[in-house]
Amino acid sequence: MDFKRGFLNKAKAPKPAKKCIHDQDTPPKSGDPHGLVGAPIPIPRAEKTRPEVPIYGEIPISPDNHTTVNFVYAALPRNEHWKVWCLMLADTRDAILALPNFPSPMLSPPPSAPRPYVVQPAPGMGKGVFANMDFKPGSLIMCERPLAIFPAMIPCGIDGTPHPQISFKAFVEWMQPEYRKVFCGLYNCKSTAKDDLLGIVNTNCIYVGRLPGSYNGLYGAVGIELSRFNHSCTPNAQERWDLQSMSFHVRALRPIKKGEQIFISYCSLLRSRTERQQELSQKYGFKCACECCSLPPKDSARSDARRGALDAAHVKLYELDHQERDKAFQAWVKDLSLPDNHFAKHSQGLLDIIVAEGLYNKTLWVAHAETVCKAQSALGNAKGIIGVAKTAAMLSLVEDGQDGGWNMVATDPEKTAWWGLRKKYSLEK
Ligand SMILES: [Zn+2]
Repeated sequence: MDFKRGFLNKAKAPKPAKKCIHDQDTPPKSGDPHGLVGAPIPIPRAEKTRPEVPIYGEIPISPDNHTTVNFVYAALPRNEHWKVWCLMLADTRDAILALPNFPSPMLSPPPSAPRPYVVQPAPGMGKGVFANMDFKPGSLIMCERPLAIFPAMIPCGIDGTPHPQISFKAFVEWMQPEYRKVFCGLYNCKSTAKDDLLGIVNTNCIYVGRLPGSYNGLYGAVGIELSRFNHSCTPNAQERWDLQSMSFHVRALRPIKKGEQIFISYCSLLRSRTERQQELSQKYGFKCACECCSLPPKDSARSDARRGALDAAHVKLYELDHQERDKAFQAWVKDLSLPDNHFAKHSQGLLDIIVAEGLYNKTLWVAHAETVCKAQSALGNAKGIIGVAKTAAMLSLVEDGQDGGWNMVATDPEKTAWWGLRKKYSLEK
């Protein structure tokens, strides 16, 4: 798992810095079919050639000796008031515009509801985002269209030099003035230089992931209030990029009370406290003092052990042989000499660790919830399914934007394909 995010803060107080995507330690993108060199580049300081174009106009960037692919500046969605200023491949833009029903409306709280969150000073952290109402797990806290999107690794030319237009300076100058002003006012944890746009990007960037089109690298984005969330190693919220509406959704992972600070994560959460602190210090220059990092030594060691177990389980997910797993299930269903908890014991143990640690990882939860629900279904035990399936539905909504069919499992456990299978064999005996 590798949650990441970025940040900004205009407060003078020392502020935890945020996820940087242009850091040297960012994992290199895999493959490079366009022959682009994915190295961070400095912003050219003496650029004089600025294209004369209408402010909303799209600028194609032709391939030359700098690049071999067609980049474009595009403000998307084209017909909406609040746009995202994009530097992307032309075929990425075309693929986005060709999405059925693009853009879908941005999610928003009901008009009568209070503003769901407030940005206010957070002791020792500059500013932070605080709940202005109670949130249930899965509730939407924020929906924000970012200011800008660009390749997470700005490509250099085949000769190692950047294309004059593929620089943050040229890109930001192209933005409409009101957006540019916001962008340039974002917090910069990397330097105090006024024109250090790369520092702003490195401080505030958050991964969008891959976008449609031929570019197989990752894209990153810079948001506005999205960048106000502080980090916790046991976050109570998580962000998700929604391409269809070109916006980020932030949802609660746990119940959050009005007045509580809302945290997301900037680092790899399945690592030990020492490793997490090293990562956060290197990338953002702050020492994490979150709830988990502040535990007394004994509790901290227990937390490290739990996270270690979850990390090992996460690695094992990729080795899982589904056919073998199904065979084991069938064998357990029929062999009544095996205890009832035999098939799902390990998975139930992992779900218990996740709950004890309060660290909700969707991939792990869903994979092991499948095993637990399958076993409980075979035993005809609805109670053992409902809670596990509801959490799987919530985590799927937070991470994927939909429940993955888990609400149906929680509502009608009797309708699952395995309902009562083992019970049937025991009655036949
Ligand atoms: Zn921490």
